[in-house]
Amino acid sequence: MNLQELLPEAIAWAKTQAQHVANHGHALSAPGLELAHQVGVKNPELVRLLYVDQLPIPVEPPRLRQAALDTGMLRPDMVGLTLGHSIFIVHGHDDARLISHELRHVRQYETLGGIEGFMPIYLAQMGGVGYELAPLEQDARAHEVRGPRNQWT
Ligand SMILES: [Zn+2]
Repeated sequence: MNLQELLPEAIAWAKTQAQHVANHGHALSAPGLELAHQVGVKNPELVRLLYVDQLPIPVEPPRLRQAALDTGMLRPDMVGLTLGHSIFIVHGHDDARLISHELRHVRQYETLGGIEGFMPIYLAQMGGVGYELAPLEQDARAHEVRGPRNQWT
């Protein structure tokens, strides 16, 4: 499976989901802004966070869904997903570790040029070395901040 072939569809899907969070999510609270600063987010005021029962997974086209699941890009046990400045968090999983991990992905999007810049690199890493060894995931893990749940928005 050549993930790069799916790039236009993946980007379109990511943008739609990001817009949903931009419309329905919440801005960061003072503790949320603090955590964003800690992991290097340049524009924390643009971050929106939406709590959901389950993370979105592409339904159409089927080959995008299959590729996302096959590569481990979207895993059934996932509890956070970041697309640009938009973060999905599954209810009950909002400890500092997960929020800081997702905020570090925000920083990566900022550095790499948004969804269009991030997605080709992320997909290449997923298709290449996979989730555990993907440099963007390792970077996010390296910036996790341990701490309790908080009011992040
Ligand atoms: Zn991650």
